[in-house]
Amino acid sequence: MKSKTTKVSRRNVLKKAAVVGGGAAATLLGGGVQAQAPSILTGTQAGRRFRAFVVFDNAPDTTIQASKASVEQVTMSALDENRVVVRTEACQVCYTIVGQAVANYNPARILGHGAVGVVEVVGSKVRRVQPGDRVIVANTPYCGQCYTCLRGRPDRCQMLPGAGNPMLPIGRLSSGADVVQHNNEGGFAELMIPYEWYCMPVFTSNATPVDLSMLGCVGACGLGTALGVAPVEPASDVVVLGCGPVGLSAVQGARIKGASQIIAIDPIRARREVALRIGATIALDPNVEGMNLVAKVKDLCKFPTDRKFAGGRDWAPNGNNIGPDYVIEAVGGDRFPPRAEVGPDPTGILPLQQAWQMCSSAGHVTTVSVGQRGNFTVPAGQWSNGAKNHHPGNMNGVSTLRDMQRFARLVDTGQFNARALATATYPLDRAREAIQAVSDRTTVGAVITFA
Ligand SMILES: [Zn+2]
Ligand SMILES: [Zn+2]
Repeated sequence: MKSKTTKVSRRNVLKKAAVVGGGAAATLLGGGVQAQAPSILTGTQAGRRFRAFVVFDNAPDTTIQASKASVEQVTMSALDENRVVVRTEACQVCYTIVGQAVANYNPARILGHGAVGVVEVVGSKVRRVQPGDRVIVANTPYCGQCYTCLRGRPDRCQMLPGAGNPMLPIGRLSSGADVVQHNNEGGFAELMIPYEWYCMPVFTSNATPVDLSMLGCVGACGLGTALGVAPVEPASDVVVLGCGPVGLSAVQGARIKGASQIIAIDPIRARREVALRIGATIALDPNVEGMNLVAKVKDLCKFPTDRKFAGGRDWAPNGNNIGPDYVIEAVGGDRFPPRAEVGPDPTGILPLQQAWQMCSSAGHVTTVSVGQRGNFTVPAGQWSNGAKNHHPGNMNGVSTLRDMQRFARLVDTGQFNARALATATYPLDRAREAIQAVSDRTTVGAVITFA
């Protein structure tokens, strides 16, 4: 294809960039990236260069500080017809990144997920987004056409990487080695090259990129627990175990849905304070409550009367008839020991056990945590016939195409305080430091920002 070198206006750039073939758009909108190879002017984007935080094959038991992870220059391959080039504005650092930063990846992998950015170029088959759109590159795609999307569970969209749907290289490192993007999206990079079905356009007036970056993974996971498969009802009792970014999003979701009592539980004082500021009515320290935690929560969730003919409930201590209507568990296992206050069980099993125990009969237990080590047990009869409803899984019923815009509007209106979760920002060159802070739990959330 012949190079296009004529002078172009921004309007024409955006028009031409609507499909691959807008190579000129890459040069005009690509400020900040290094000198481009002439081949991008052919319109394929091949040869375009950008910087990314990449993890290589690590030995077992490495640490974040010793990890083979560094900011590398990536040279793009030709843009797939279903992919989009997004200039990254901000990418959150959720706790799962801690494990990924020390993982044994081959081929090399660009870390990051759930980022926000602005579309620069789209492949020839892309219809959902246009150049200039701000998009959340959500951690769960939405295709709207697969088996699970069509059955009301787009939070399990089959376009997630897995068997038959691998992470494909989007370019090469300066060594010549292939590089893939985590979950086919990346985020710790100046450019993301996601498939169209990961891109959720958001149209906002107040929300900043840092705010929006909290929605694409952790915010959606937390809000999904309160708004998704088991929507919280007004005037209900809700318990949230774990007040990291996911749990704090759940606290706000419960508040938005009109819960009357929201009990936040976390060993870290700073996190309990944030929880109280953004919607929790009570905050408990599991280290202080010890093995009395379940009984205490059940007692706090007594209904005002035990007169059952008057709509009351049985007050038998520790019985299954009292307890919260909704228990949301977002603790998980510690990948490394935190530097902040340590919780009662680094394996993450105890909070799952307690979540099940404290839930009332016919109540809902929603679990979104990861990284547990081991198994947990429940009484078999209660499991089979106890009428406690368990809803596991990331994003619990969230439809990312519908809900990213919905959640962004909650940020815009001030109903969802995303900034309370984004307590530290770092440039790309300090990504390792950001991951360490998240591992240490010395910040609620961290965000990589791009100038
Ligand atoms: Zn995440
Ligand atoms: Zn799908």
